Amino acid sequence: MATQPHSRKRVCYYYDSDIGNYYYGQGHPMKPHRIRMTHNLLLNYGLYRKMEIYRPHKATAEEMTKFHSDDYIRFLRSIRPDNMAEYNKQMQRFNVGEDCPVFDGLYEFCQLSAGGSVAAAVKLNKQASEICINWGGGLHHAKKSEASGFCYVNDIVLGILELLKYHQRVLYIDIDVHHGDGVEEAFYTTDRVMTVSFHKYGEYFPGTGDLRDIGAGKGKYYAVNIPLRDGMDDEAYESIFVPIISKVMETFQPSAVVLQCGADSLTGDRLGCFNLTVKGHGKCVEFVKKYNLPFMMVGGGGYTIRNVSRAWTYETSVALGVEIANELPYNDYFEYFGPDFKLHISPSNMANQNTPEYLEKIKTRLFENLRMLPHAPGVQVQAIPEDAINEESDSEDKVDKDERLPQKDLDKRIVPDNEFSDSEDEGEGGRRDNRSYKGRKRPRLDKTENKEGEDKPKEEVKSDKAPVEQETR
Ligand SMILES: [Zn+2]
Repeated sequence: MATQPHSRKRVCYYYDSDIGNYYYGQGHPMKPHRIRMTHNLLLNYGLYRKMEIYRPHKATAEEMTKFHSDDYIRFLRSIRPDNMAEYNKQMQRFNVGEDCPVFDGLYEFCQLSAGGSVAAAVKLNKQASEICINWGGGLHHAKKSEASGFCYVNDIVLGILELLKYHQRVLYIDIDVHHGDGVEEAFYTTDRVMTVSFHKYGEYFPGTGDLRDIGAGKGKYYAVNIPLRDGMDDEAYESIFVPIISKVMETFQPSAVVLQCGADSLTGDRLGCFNLTVKGHGKCVEFVKKYNLPFMMVGGGGYTIRNVSRAWTYETSVALGVEIANELPYNDYFEYFGPDFKLHISPSNMANQNTPEYLEKIKTRLFENLRMLPHAPGVQVQAIPEDAINEESDSEDKVDKDERLPQKDLDKRIVPDNEFSDSEDEGEGGRRDNRSYKGRKRPRLDKTENKEGEDKPKEEVKSDKAPVEQETR
């Protein structure tokens, strides 16, 4: 497949200035605030001048039920912190309450995350852009009728379903430290989507993603799992990522790619156990970009938020094909980035438990599976269904060039005081365990103890969530 290393791309970027205000609750490691930090950092690097910035529409229930069940979405739309008592049974049924808490504006948060990925897919389908970025998306654990691992609505599945209207084969790659189980499950029996997940495996959330899980029925050999051990470093990661993705591209020949850029695979992540630097993580983006296919980049995990914003800012620059300085520009969250105030981070001295022999063995096994694939499988798409977003509607809210900087002023932070200091990310933080839930083993992504007094909001975090003027569809 032709690669063109230095070509400039049209890049569209989806961001809603409200996203950073959603708050999972005291002590919860998932912080939408990191998306606002990323946005602010990349604005201050001047990257906004080189891409189109859009405010995503709020995905409708109709859009979300292209994948999710009606009763699950109805539940997400109804549940609020003040009516939880009425929904006790449903909360258990839909796995909402622990890892996936009920918080103010939960449904809107899902709408924005999903809206961005669906809009990105529509944009790529129209060939109006080569790369679309939605750092508010990437919530790969959400299931058809169940929340999981901090994820409620699977924006990735919705985005891929949209891409499938125009693309016969879509490749999904997941570099989050956790297995991309929700996306894999959604497409486990189809040969039109290949899911490739690189993740820590073995006593780790969500517990799936074994090397031997390869898809089923028509989808046999179209799920690819790369189970890894603690301590993956840049060199080891590249040594497995490049040959596997090369072989996948060669044999599957996708016409569009979605890359989940979960940043919890970075060194020092509060929940992760890999040792990747921002450069090593970004190399995956660089490598995939070289294939010159319609390319969607989404966020995902990432719990040491200063590093999440470093990585996603850098990866935005990689998408744009521009170099940015290691010295961080002054930005609204500058104090998070001390003591060095640099973009790039150093690996730790942790041992890499993935030996070259182990990685070689995995690679060999996966290559054997990929050899089973027919070349360019499947038939052509027939009728093209209607796009999710109607051109006439005002759903695509492009942020005007001259209004882009002022959007930063919309980013008035309403966050707990000690969230500002990022101190929670320094702590030992959560390591997941398996806990019995509803009579069956339900591994949790995080079992952070809510230490009294930790991360206590100084003010009502979502006080501004009352009617916000937003485009309606
Ligand atoms: Zn993760």
